[in-house]
Amino acid sequence: MQKLKLLTTTALLVVITTSCAQTKKEFQWPNGAKSAVALTYDDGLPSHVNTAAPMLKKYNFKATFYPTLSSPSLFDEMEKWKGLATAGHELGNHTVYHPCQKSGVDMDWVPDHYDLDTYTSEQIAEEIKLANTLLLAMDGKKTRSFAYPCSHYFAGGKSYKGFVSSQFPSARGSSEEQKQLMALSDIDLYNVPSWAPNNHGADELIAYIQNIIEQETLSTLTFHGIGAEHMTVSIEAHEKMLRFLDANRDKIWVATFEEVTAYLESERNSTEK
Ligand SMILES: [Zn+2]
Repeated sequence: MQKLKLLTTTALLVVITTSCAQTKKEFQWPNGAKSAVALTYDDGLPSHVNTAAPMLKKYNFKATFYPTLSSPSLFDEMEKWKGLATAGHELGNHTVYHPCQKSGVDMDWVPDHYDLDTYTSEQIAEEIKLANTLLLAMDGKKTRSFAYPCSHYFAGGKSYKGFVSSQFPSARGSSEEQKQLMALSDIDLYNVPSWAPNNHGADELIAYIQNIIEQETLSTLTFHGIGAEHMTVSIEAHEKMLRFLDANRDKIWVATFEEVTAYLESERNSTEK
């Protein structure tokens, strides 16, 4: 009898261990790749619609554009901005006026009237909601991601991350100095890491992507001007990077910020069950 009990327990243990092993599947992105990247373009610059978008089309990549809605380019070239959404890119929320904390390092350029330190929580909330309405008029969508202007999270000294979490499925965070990759399991969907190249060349862009591939994680790149404007990346470097991504489609999934974060969240939910 004792022996039979032992045998039954052993059999039960085998069943439990096997079923656990079956549910713990290896993380893969939709195309079977082990890493992912979202290319993002901030501030509504003319080179986004005139240079970056045609290059993305050439290589058939979808990206996320975070236009500052008061940017003159939106007024001047609205049809092109709307065309980004038609082409399958994401238009993300980056506020209307791009307020930043003037108290931050090297933030003297921030106009007093867009100083996030003097905003109230209500003001930033209203501005973000207005940006969502304007974007809805552009692409007909009620869901999109958010990118914190200047990666600043405090309005009038209070964090507005809670408000962002209530309005968006995900948000992109630090975008200037962040070069350190985070493990996939540690990524906060409301502060997804990013690196913003600033006059960096193709080799550095490719090295960053190679790191994402090697570490089997997700990261994002924050671009500003492409061959023009501020924090520029040359047209050549940008294209070389796209060519590299194109040649490595089996290793790294390139998609919009909204898509990569939605997929990560759904995978997390399914493995928690
Ligand atoms: Zn910005």
